[in-house]
Amino acid sequence: LITALAGGVGAARFLTGLLKLVKEEDLTIIGNTGDDIEMFGFHISPDLDIVAYTLAGLADEKKGWGLEGDTFRCLDMLKKLGLETWFNLGDKDLATHIFRTELLNKGFTLSEATDSICQALGLRVKILPMTNDRFETRIRIEEGLVHFEEYFVKREAKDNVLGVEFVGAPSARPAPKVVDSIMKAKLVIICPSNPIVSIGTILSVDGVRNALKQTNAKVVAISPIVAGAPIKGPADKLMRGLGFEVSAFAVAKIYADFLDDFIIDDQDASEKTQIESLGMRVKTTNTLMKTLEDKVRLAKVVLEC
Ligand code: GDP
Repeated sequence: LITALAGGVGAARFLTGLLKLVKEEDLTIIGNTGDDIEMFGFHISPDLDIVAYTLAGLADEKKGWGLEGDTFRCLDMLKKLGLETWFNLGDKDLATHIFRTELLNKGFTLSEATDSICQALGLRVKILPMTNDRFETRIRIEEGLVHFEEYFVKREAKDNVLGVEFVGAPSARPAPKVVDSIMKAKLVIICPSNPIVSIGTILSVDGVRNALKQTNAKVVAISPIVAGAPIKGPADKLMRGLGFEVSAFAVAKIYADFLDDFIIDDQDASEKTQIESLGMRVKTTNTLMKTLEDKVRLAKVVLEC
């Protein structure tokens, strides 16, 4: 049994490779819900959806978000009606949010709604939201606190990051099976995802960090930082804003209390000894996932741990 902690795109790409080597039934994915946002009355779970879409072979991998071949006619009309349409919602994508919101309105939990979406997409892998409680990542910029999506999509991650706040974190309980799946796994994988707003959010949910420390599973992470920069996304701005340096070593420090093995890129081999001094084993390999072969090769390295 394998459990993976996942953000969005970086995680989804890695998990595509992993699922060429392990059975879907043997994998549980704990997904980030800190980016969840309500738009036009619909509950949107960007990270849970991109993982599900990618694993179901439906994602637009070039664009890096949404569904392949989706159209935006509904959004066009919303704009005509004078609504703010900075959050890109494709027509087919919207159907997922309508479905999810309807289930939530009927009293189902986000876990149950996510399960229904996965089943409808033909997935046998389990995707668990980290929590069913309200949890919102907010970024502090000069103008004040804004939702992560407002910072990232509307404001194009251009603002200086002054801080990050997880609204709801102190009272958010882990969703059913989250802690259990970490405790019962043989291997826990921390995907190459944003260490602050994707993995950091999951780690902040009560009991998760402790389970990672207590589990008998081997806990392995892949660095999302390569040669002093993220491959994509604002991890560098967020890390710098919080006073971290942007390096594999800095990510290792965030995970040091529970990590057994850390996989870093060949380009960061010079950091190996420094990271090992934190008390973990370090493997270096090419961690750039351009092709499916790259993804499978990286997954193999993880499984060899
Ligand atoms: P998001 O929520 O869609 O931004 O996705 P994640 O949090 O899952 O992942 C973002 C992180 O994935 C970024 O910090 C990237 O550097 C990292 N990432 C994306 N592609 C790759 C890759 O091919 N190799 C490695 N090592 N990291 C990657």
